[in-house]
Amino acid sequence: MTKPNESTVERPLNFIEQIITQDLATGKHSTITTRFPPEPNGYLHIGHAKSICLNFGLAERFGGVCNLRFDDTNPAKEDQEYIDAIIRDVNWLGFPTGGDAKSQIFFASAYFDQLYDWALDLIKNGKAYVCGLSPDEAREYRGTLTEPGRPSPYRDRSVEENLAEFEKMRSGAYDEGACVLRAKIDMAAGNINLRDPILYRIRKQSHHQTGDKWCIYPTYDYAHGQGDAIEGITHSICTLEFADHRPLYEWLLDNLPVPAQPRQYEFARLELNYTITSKRKLKQLVDENYVDAWDDPRMPTIAGMRRRGYSPRALRNFCDLIGVTKSASTVDVGMLEFAVRDDLNANAPRAMCVLSPLKLVINNFADHFSESTIAVGQPCHPQHPEMGERTLPFTAEVFIDVSDFTEDTSLSRKKFKRLVLGDYVRLRGASVIKAEKVVRDEAGEISYVECSLVPNTIGEDPPEGIRPRGVIHWVSATESVECEVRLYDRLFNDPSPDAGGKEFLDCLNPESLVVISGARAEINLNGAELGVAYQFEREGYFTLDSRYSTAEKLVFNRTIGLKDNWESKVS
Ligand code: ATP
Ligand code: MG
Repeated sequence: MTKPNESTVERPLNFIEQIITQDLATGKHSTITTRFPPEPNGYLHIGHAKSICLNFGLAERFGGVCNLRFDDTNPAKEDQEYIDAIIRDVNWLGFPTGGDAKSQIFFASAYFDQLYDWALDLIKNGKAYVCGLSPDEAREYRGTLTEPGRPSPYRDRSVEENLAEFEKMRSGAYDEGACVLRAKIDMAAGNINLRDPILYRIRKQSHHQTGDKWCIYPTYDYAHGQGDAIEGITHSICTLEFADHRPLYEWLLDNLPVPAQPRQYEFARLELNYTITSKRKLKQLVDENYVDAWDDPRMPTIAGMRRRGYSPRALRNFCDLIGVTKSASTVDVGMLEFAVRDDLNANAPRAMCVLSPLKLVINNFADHFSESTIAVGQPCHPQHPEMGERTLPFTAEVFIDVSDFTEDTSLSRKKFKRLVLGDYVRLRGASVIKAEKVVRDEAGEISYVECSLVPNTIGEDPPEGIRPRGVIHWVSATESVECEVRLYDRLFNDPSPDAGGKEFLDCLNPESLVVISGARAEINLNGAELGVAYQFEREGYFTLDSRYSTAEKLVFNRTIGLKDNWESKVS
């Protein structure tokens, strides 16, 4: 069996791997360094998983280094909770962080002093100025895609005046929004990002790392490339929407005394149908209680997928399957589900659980067994004998699923391969039984079904003439454990809840969670392990819920069904 964190997908080199192969072959770099730079303003989602697998995966493949860098330049929305969650998620995906030269944790905020000094350099070289235009005015001066911008009236301030003004910004003399530091590049540039972009803005906010030391904070554009240079990043990989920022990224590196010259490459971000990957919208789902929390099993967050029972290997396989390209496209969420199902089918231990129990009473049990409980063995996984066997208690009273029984004797063997009144079925791993009589309560509901067993059929074929219709799952009625089962479906019932003009909250699937209480699981599931998904035979894959499951009350999440039945459900 493969390791839980390793991808098992074979594939050709993607375009970034090709570039790196060449850079190493030509001696441009002797070793590579990448980074994954999340802003700690929310939990990581499936899109981030792609970026993590790419950046950490490159370091792994080429024997290089990948840094986890918190891009914490905007204190207003950031929080220690998110920092902790991000580290946990990256590690869970199988990528180490910290304590090892191959991967370290950095904070962009640790570079604030250096960035400030470099800003002074820019000012002294006449390449930055403090601008007092209001945001509205600045927008007007900036021009449009078809019209050049106009120079700000503050553009030609002297170096001395700029130094004094910037110092006043830093010391707190100005209110938020009163002024900004801008690079002095080209107000007529075709690329709007070069029209004197903002480098620093005033934010009178405490920062989770630097406290109250600063009231000016660098912009993403100013902090990012310089952070890359400080860390010696060779290949700085970001998503396509930053392609237009690359000239600014390069201008800053060219105009500052940075210790290295990183290069930026862009790839297409992951978009999944039926899914939202905007942190702002995911946060809204949490804050407005549409879901439990960031780790709700329906959320496309790494924490949610972990709680749901997805394995890190499945996510890594998925990232390998979809590949890394330069053109944007939407991936079918069915591909993610395929990767999850494929992994679980190969690796999940088997178990039996009856979701809607119907009691069978086997009248002749004591005639054929001298004990009230017979231990029957079942493999933990049919294709992996090395996973061992489990023992199931077979007793005179068992539960089967209500949907596995019918009194309709007209149903053909082909149509209904389960228990029919007057006919035979095999209880998986135990005897062949026959349904003899339905016993009802006063309200006319079925109380139980009286059955008889065919002797000597545990592990043996029944005698000539007896043909069980099929094999069904069951648990002992007396030696099983009651549990709650939570069935999840897609959170959105619209393939593009995020598309222009749509209110994503209107696309929520009202049936995304169905809670079933009173299910009965085989007794071995008392020892179910957190973090392991089990195949409940004939029902799907299930894992203990890390939030609600307790020793007194087992709660299982359905990770995914056995088959993809979404299409048939919507059509
Ligand atoms: P949001 O806009 O929702 O806040 P973000 O892209 O700003 O998301 P960051 O924390 O800045 O989130 O992202 C960290 C890294 O993850 C970035 O390098 C970004 O390019 C990458 N990333 C984010 N979303 C995706 C995605 N859907 N597909 C691939 N990479 C992504
Ligand atoms: Mg971002």
